[in-house]
Amino acid sequence: MKLSNRITSISPGGSDGWGVFYRARAMLAAGTPVTELTIGEHDVRTAPDILDAMHRAATGGHTGYAIVPGTPALRRAAAERVTRMTGVPTGPENILITAGGQAALFAAHLATCGDGQKGLFIDPYYATYPGTIRAAGGVAVPVQARAEDGFQPRPDAIAAQAEGASSLLINSPNNPTGVVYSRDTLDGIASVCRDHDLWLISDEVYDCQVWEGEHISPRALPGMADRTILVGSMSKSHAMTGSRIGWICAPVEVIDHLINLSTNTNYGVAGFVQDAATYALGLGPEAEARVAAPFARRRDMTLALIAGQNTVRAVPPQGAMYTMLDIRATGLSGEDFANRLLDEERIAVMPGESFGTAAAGHIRVAMTIPDAAYEDALRRVLAFAARLAW
Ligand code: PMP
Repeated sequence: MKLSNRITSISPGGSDGWGVFYRARAMLAAGTPVTELTIGEHDVRTAPDILDAMHRAATGGHTGYAIVPGTPALRRAAAERVTRMTGVPTGPENILITAGGQAALFAAHLATCGDGQKGLFIDPYYATYPGTIRAAGGVAVPVQARAEDGFQPRPDAIAAQAEGASSLLINSPNNPTGVVYSRDTLDGIASVCRDHDLWLISDEVYDCQVWEGEHISPRALPGMADRTILVGSMSKSHAMTGSRIGWICAPVEVIDHLINLSTNTNYGVAGFVQDAATYALGLGPEAEARVAAPFARRRDMTLALIAGQNTVRAVPPQGAMYTMLDIRATGLSGEDFANRLLDEERIAVMPGESFGTAAAGHIRVAMTIPDAAYEDALRRVLAFAARLAW
């Protein structure tokens, strides 16, 4: 039986740089100890008081169908957080609660580039981006952000691809590079979007993890609130990755259409998870800062270790949970380096090539294991690179 082109083209197949990750998982399953610096997941779990709130909501009866756009309380709480983080007054009518940021990314693309239109995205990119655009029916077109530019995307490079495009997806703080887009970068992006009539899909799931500079939401830039679709999530801010809870913030007209989409796809998000999310948002920024603190510490360790050697270079991580290391001095590709690091040091990192072409010759290190183990592993990664470069 023939399957639809849409479903068979989501993932083009072939080598995508994820071989190292799966090999590391297989080694672990076979009992070989491997230090994993691969996936963007906290080394702590969801806080017990948030789980208590979830339990109370479930035993209290919130286990039936929950209202589709999201509970009024969570829409209000998300709107308040968006207002605080972007500076743009935002109401519950601008919010649709989704099953995590990933569902929000899909919905945003279905709303804007689902009819075979070009959806631009920045390379290096978070693994799901091109597949998400294709799943929504768009044509995924990468725009390279170069290591030489500190992985800040150049507006002229975006403009060069903008003809016939309908959306641009950006992500700051950025996974995989750890870069926070500067005001200049964002002003340039905003003006390309206005000039070429592009929707801007702004993935801000790391907005509470900024170590240097400030998080600026493009939604706050002149003329952008009406053309920006903001993607938010509780996964990173509250260590709630498994709860699958996030939101889209967009103009009311977009939200109204996306409510139809949600009604006819997932029919909303579990009510007890929404209640737990409402509780978690009510804890305010201090709770988010506590979840983010370990990454700030490990980022400082990273800077200190990198400063102490001269083989590996890095664009200093300014936000999120990752450091992108430039290992070109070893003469290896990111993929070869990562494979050898796994075989010889039993440390798993992601090759830059798994995030597109712009990060070739790099590896991404996730700062997601306890401090002492992280420091030791990074020290060994750097020593390994130094030996190869010798
Ligand atoms: N965007 C980025 C940049 C991410 O790194 C992730 C998760 N790693 C997501 C979106 C999706 O997160 P979630 O669906 O858990 O909210």
